[in-house]
Amino acid sequence: MNKLICIITSIVTLPLIGCAESETKAEAEKKEIAKLKVLIIDGQNNHNWKSTTPVLKHALEEGGVFEVTVSTSPPKDTKPEGWKDWNPKFSDYDTVLSNYNGQMWPETVQKNFVDYVANGGGFVCVHAADNAFGNWEEYNKMIAVGGWGGRKLIRDGAWLHVVDGKAVRDTTTKGNGGGHGKPHEFVVNHLDSDHPIIKGLPNKWLHTKDELYCKLCGPAENVEVLGSAESKLTKRQEPMLMVISYGKGRVFHTPLGHDAEAMRCRGFYELLQRGTEWSVNGKVDRTAEVPSDFPTVDKTSPVAPEEKK
Ligand code: ZN
Repeated sequence: MNKLICIITSIVTLPLIGCAESETKAEAEKKEIAKLKVLIIDGQNNHNWKSTTPVLKHALEEGGVFEVTVSTSPPKDTKPEGWKDWNPKFSDYDTVLSNYNGQMWPETVQKNFVDYVANGGGFVCVHAADNAFGNWEEYNKMIAVGGWGGRKLIRDGAWLHVVDGKAVRDTTTKGNGGGHGKPHEFVVNHLDSDHPIIKGLPNKWLHTKDELYCKLCGPAENVEVLGSAESKLTKRQEPMLMVISYGKGRVFHTPLGHDAEAMRCRGFYELLQRGTEWSVNGKVDRTAEVPSDFPTVDKTSPVAPEEKK
């Protein structure tokens, strides 16, 4: 009789135990595959942020790894009282992407942003976001180098560029920080590095028509240049892909992406996804698959806005 009870108990309880175990596993898997939360900041820019933010959002969301929220600041020339309701909660996100180049943020927002990145948050700086906040010391440390915004070579730091495949900090050349010629197609060269953002990708690829920033300057500390392109203006390899450490945080900075057309490049899409994932936790796992249509050294690979990967 006791044996029978034991058998019956086993039959009844075993599936329950199994069920409880599989629930735990499913929960764990769900947690593991939770999308990475990205906050895009826009609202002011000397570029057409209304047309580029949707491309950035698409670039990140098409692979199913990221979930994007957009926070739009008050418009240009807003008086201080008009800013009091704009205070993004950075800590709700895994990383923050700036498509912003405009008025200085209120002090509280500045402080929250610095604390967020310094304490291990991610930051992705795209194109003219590196023109912003020329006088904000901590921001300049985060992005390593920037242009315009009153920046001057030497006074505001080194001109970071690449010579013979190695990053150099030029501290003797004078002039204004930041420059570019007319948009054109150009080759992006990856430097010799085992950094996960460029690992497995062709080391030379043709980018779609874009502005090629040059003479970016700044503190240029704790920065690794992963990709560069030759400027017709400076005849030097200028940084196109950079990673910076700031406190416990990680920053991915790309001067690429002047407009929607420039962003609709499979190379830009792929590097943006990888750089954004890396900014979250220093890893590139979920975005590491190399797309079959990645550009080659002599052929660009435009992405249609509605194209799904
Ligand atoms: Zn531009």
